[in-house]
Amino acid sequence: MQLKTNIAKRVYLFSDGNKEMVELLGGKGANLAEMSQLGLPVPNGFTITTEACTEYLEKQELSFELKEQIKEQVEVLEKLTRKKLNDLHHPLLVSVRSGARFSMPGMMDTVLNLGMNDKVVEGLAGMTDNVGFAYDCYRRFIQMFGDVVKGVDKNHFEAVLTQYKTQNEYREDSELTDKDWKEITHQFKQVYRSYLGEEFPQQPEEQLYGAVEAVFKSWNNSRAKLYRKMNGISDNLGTAVTIQEMVFGNTGDRSGTGVAFTRNPATGENGLFGEFLINAQGEDVVAGIRTPKEISELKNLMPDTYSQFVKIAEKLEKHYEDMQDIEFTIENGKLFILQTRNGKRTSKAAVAIVLDLAEEGVISKEEALMRLTPSMMDQLLHPSFLAAELAEHVPVLKGLPASPGSASGDVYFTAEAAKKAAESGAKTILLRNETSPEDIEGMIICEAIVTARGGMTSHAAVVARGMGTCCVVGCDQLVIDEQEKKAVIDGKDLKEGTTISVDGSTGKVYLGEITKDNQVAGSHALSKVIQWCKDLSNVRVKANAETAKEISASLELGGEGMGLVRTEHMFFGEERILEMRRMILAEDKQAKLKALAQLKKYQKEDFKTIFALAEGKPAIVRLLDPPLHEFLPTEKEVPSVAKELNILPKDLERLIKGLAENNPMLGHRGCRLAVTNPEIYEMQTEAIIEAAIEAEQETGIKMVPEIMIPLVSIEKELVVIKETLVRKIDTIFKRLNKQIPYLIGTMIETPRACLIADKIAEHVDFISFGTNDLTQLTYGFSRDDIGKFVQDYEQKEILATDPFQHIDVDGVGALLHEAIQKIKSTGKSVSIGICGEVGGDPESIRFLLNEGVDYFSCSPYRIPAALLTIAQQSIKKNS
Ligand code: ADP
Ligand code: MG
Ligand code: MG
Repeated sequence: MQLKTNIAKRVYLFSDGNKEMVELLGGKGANLAEMSQLGLPVPNGFTITTEACTEYLEKQELSFELKEQIKEQVEVLEKLTRKKLNDLHHPLLVSVRSGARFSMPGMMDTVLNLGMNDKVVEGLAGMTDNVGFAYDCYRRFIQMFGDVVKGVDKNHFEAVLTQYKTQNEYREDSELTDKDWKEITHQFKQVYRSYLGEEFPQQPEEQLYGAVEAVFKSWNNSRAKLYRKMNGISDNLGTAVTIQEMVFGNTGDRSGTGVAFTRNPATGENGLFGEFLINAQGEDVVAGIRTPKEISELKNLMPDTYSQFVKIAEKLEKHYEDMQDIEFTIENGKLFILQTRNGKRTSKAAVAIVLDLAEEGVISKEEALMRLTPSMMDQLLHPSFLAAELAEHVPVLKGLPASPGSASGDVYFTAEAAKKAAESGAKTILLRNETSPEDIEGMIICEAIVTARGGMTSHAAVVARGMGTCCVVGCDQLVIDEQEKKAVIDGKDLKEGTTISVDGSTGKVYLGEITKDNQVAGSHALSKVIQWCKDLSNVRVKANAETAKEISASLELGGEGMGLVRTEHMFFGEERILEMRRMILAEDKQAKLKALAQLKKYQKEDFKTIFALAEGKPAIVRLLDPPLHEFLPTEKEVPSVAKELNILPKDLERLIKGLAENNPMLGHRGCRLAVTNPEIYEMQTEAIIEAAIEAEQETGIKMVPEIMIPLVSIEKELVVIKETLVRKIDTIFKRLNKQIPYLIGTMIETPRACLIADKIAEHVDFISFGTNDLTQLTYGFSRDDIGKFVQDYEQKEILATDPFQHIDVDGVGALLHEAIQKIKSTGKSVSIGICGEVGGDPESIRFLLNEGVDYFSCSPYRIPAALLTIAQQSIKKNS
């Protein structure tokens, strides 16, 4: 036999452990040790380490050494408690509890009242003068041992109890007499025997080893495995096992058991929040057999015990510097604490709690911010479905979670139909193969958008995020038949008007309506977090925004003006698109200039509104970017549009054909349009400058318009266009006899532009990286089509993630790095920004901050998450 000193220590008394030993003792074990050393009333016990569990799971048996160590500690426990296992006068009963490094509530097993047998039950009855209680403990033990250790479904036992109560016309357990509990215990032993073909084990040692093994094994039960998978917890950690002296909440009316949070886990409100049951044991509260009472009622029933509990709860919260979730039991008026851990909470509560803790001086502002996550910020802005209701629904579709939020409504397959239904009061959900700019009116008015195709940066996704509308894209199981007004999912028809529910945070779609949890976070808390974040860093977040709704949302959410005002969206209104078409299709200069003049009027009004709304904050206006054919009518619309434009349909068709491109993404767009049609950018520039001057006069706020030229890849391209713009601006200044400062910048969104970024920098005041196009061109992946195959790439682990969502550090990131170095090498002060989708993605922001980006621009609703990410990075850097 090995010497005892050579055997690794696998078992720790509570007095040997502390809260830092979570890895070895599990959260439960470590915190029990910590609490007992804080002098709190914790029943005595010891914990078997997680290492012992992994060893056991390898060998599938308890080693001799481990058993020896357990035996030794049981003897210590017997001394401490002055009770003994299997003793007829002072019997020791214990609980055998699971507890892993990360809290996995209810996922693994626990056995209570271990040590009970035919003789001990009589001893306990004598010792407490309470026969009913003793047998209640015994029958509970038989059931738990049978279920957890031997795999006899606990329902078999419960059925016996239910039947017994019905036969005797009892409604509550409390009506059962001593004799009844004795009889039930007898019947439970029969159940045990009939399922297992053996008698209930009478030896406490055998019971103990059996229970320890069962708890070890429960690490690998299917619900624990699933929980770990869903929460990204490793399968190799194993669980610790705590063996602890039982205290009894089931001795009568002066006893009970409960669970309480130190703050409300749904709202964060300060004050105890919890429930308890009189005359019950631990599991009863969760099991829901009886309806528990609110914790505040304990104040009336046992005022002293209650105030003791309040004090302990406060002490624990201060000690752990966080909201606690505490289990307690009261035995004949005496309080025991059985567990504490940092309580799980909603995002709303998380924010409220860290703000309060910081204000109470328990933690610093920095610590408060570090405890939040960017996804909490997102969740705060978007109400989710009620968890309980959601759990009862099975999704019928799963796509990419393009824009968070949740919505229920009736499905429509065209923007027109959705718009019509919405106008007559219906809540609508737009279901499309994919969306295009013409769908915008339907998209604005609907509750949610679901598409069969497209990726995270498809039109639907980008527009929906901008509007804060819930959206799921790329549901490849979805087939839409617009003609028949139906969708087909797995061979089943979904008709127009059917109600569905969409969860934009998970990408899941459900049939029927699901109630929303409408308690969106108090904007007061959010504003405070935003302010704290801004105080910590000079890097700013701007918005990709152009509508009044988007702009005011972005300012409220901490946006520092607009980093990307897209002008093309302004051309889709009914009259505007007509003028746009006139301009594009004009066969002579005269007609073209006439249409442009009309468009300028519209644009100027829009810009004036935008500048006024921005309240002096910067607004970067990007000149027209998409290819012109995006504004042309579809084949179906040709006859009516031809009539409106007063030309022959066949002439219109010819013109449309002339503008068609094989590869529009690589086509005649961005600054390339201005090389061939300089009048368009001139018109836009004129509108911007005049609008700024007028807005300044009307509001009294100084305006510095910023004009951005998209898709540059050749230095000369930029030079030529910039010259046109500057010349135009000079003529405006002369004409109006007034000057204002302005900035001209460009977007870098082609690989070539990255490689000559120093040359580009020489001509501009600011540079914004358009990472959507840059990613598209670096990979040669079309971002409108990647949705069709990106999931395969992820499944086959060719791509770890969608590069349009999280920056591709190795490729696109390397180009950005090169470009930024080049820009900085010029020594010129050029502000550097990001305005692609990744500008709102925390993971990408972390990378880009290190590269030296000055500002980010993203959808309004992503601003708080971006600000938090930036603040957290700066805290990390300074600590
Ligand atoms: P879980 O991790 O599922 O919460 P626990 O090990 O915490 O499992 O135990 C389940 C229930 O049994 C809890 O309510 C707990 O308070 C109670 N319990 C555990 N050990 C004891 C004990 N020694 N005395 C009384 N009740 C106990
Ligand atoms: Mg517990
Ligand atoms: Mg672009």
